[in-house]
Amino acid sequence: AKTWILTKPFEGFPQHSDFELKVEELPEPKDGEVLLEAVFISVDPYMRLISSFSVNKGDVMIGTQVSKVIKSNNPTFPVGTHVVASCGWRTHTVCDGTGLVPIMPDWPQDVSLSLALGAIGMPGLTALYGIEEVLGLQKGETLLVNAAAGAVGSVVGQIAKIKGCKVVGSAGSDAKVAFLKELGFDAAFNYKTVGSLEEALKKASPEGYDCYFDNVGGPFSTVALQQMKNFGRIAVCGSISVYNDTTPQTGPYPYLTMIFKQIKMEGFMETRWGHKDPESLKRLMGWLKEGKLQGREHITKGFENVPAAFLGMLKGENIGKAVVAV
Ligand code: NDP
Repeated sequence: AKTWILTKPFEGFPQHSDFELKVEELPEPKDGEVLLEAVFISVDPYMRLISSFSVNKGDVMIGTQVSKVIKSNNPTFPVGTHVVASCGWRTHTVCDGTGLVPIMPDWPQDVSLSLALGAIGMPGLTALYGIEEVLGLQKGETLLVNAAAGAVGSVVGQIAKIKGCKVVGSAGSDAKVAFLKELGFDAAFNYKTVGSLEEALKKASPEGYDCYFDNVGGPFSTVALQQMKNFGRIAVCGSISVYNDTTPQTGPYPYLTMIFKQIKMEGFMETRWGHKDPESLKRLMGWLKEGKLQGREHITKGFENVPAAFLGMLKGENIGKAVVAV
């Protein structure tokens, strides 16, 4: 098996030199075990965050993949089965089947299995749960989402449109803004070139925002919070603007605004609703088949390019879900 290991814990923005390609001899699968071969490997922001405290020097980098069972001594996972597996950045893995999630039954032939890491996978579920469980978004409301052209953000905006809402999105390039318009966002702007964020938010929705799906945190949120309507709701999904910071974030948060506008703000992790995943994935797939949901992807080819894909995603090079085709 080829693996990508961490040569040292990340400090600040991750570097190519933080990763090293290693070849590992794998044992034959024993009774109850399977041999997996990676087909698609996901690169996600949480890997930057979590690997800081859960991956040690020399460990294989964490991550999720769609893999195919190529040898099996486990009747639950016959040869040819595709699964979503959290086995990190590696081409081959021997495991006993614990934690493997088979791709949902009836996955359409014409839909790439890579979407099981994107719109019909963890990021899609994050979008759905943030909207329904945390925000309780209602028809006719106005929603703001940032990192809107990314894996989670692009699904957030599309689900909000399905629900009959007005959607405003912010993203880091003009190409991304054009993509958001294609998806049916009512307004979208490039936060890097917009000048005053406050003015951009006011222009996009002069009456303010009922809901804010926050993927970015930091100063963006300080400004966005001031544009909420009374009784506005905020789903704190991610805070990617601070993941590479070397000193802990201290604020400022506009607490007075929260009090006077009686804002409700809730952080969440999509795993909270794991019991609903099978049903939720079916709903996402339903929207995809009906043409109401697009699963745009940014695909990098080759296992040797996994670190580059990861760094590119952190730099904002991806439109849609960043995935590596092994
Ligand atoms: P994306 O596909 O959105 O990729 C990351 C994007 O973040 C980049 O493309 C870039 O887009 C943007 N970005 C990077 N750095 C900055 C910065 N300094 N300021 C503003 N934007 C930045 O990733 P995901 O959709 O997978 O994840 C989006 C967010 O959701 C992340 O914060 C992630 O941690 C969080 N998340 C949370 C989950 C949960 O359960 N709570 C589950 C999954 C994801 P741009 O060009 O627009 O800047």
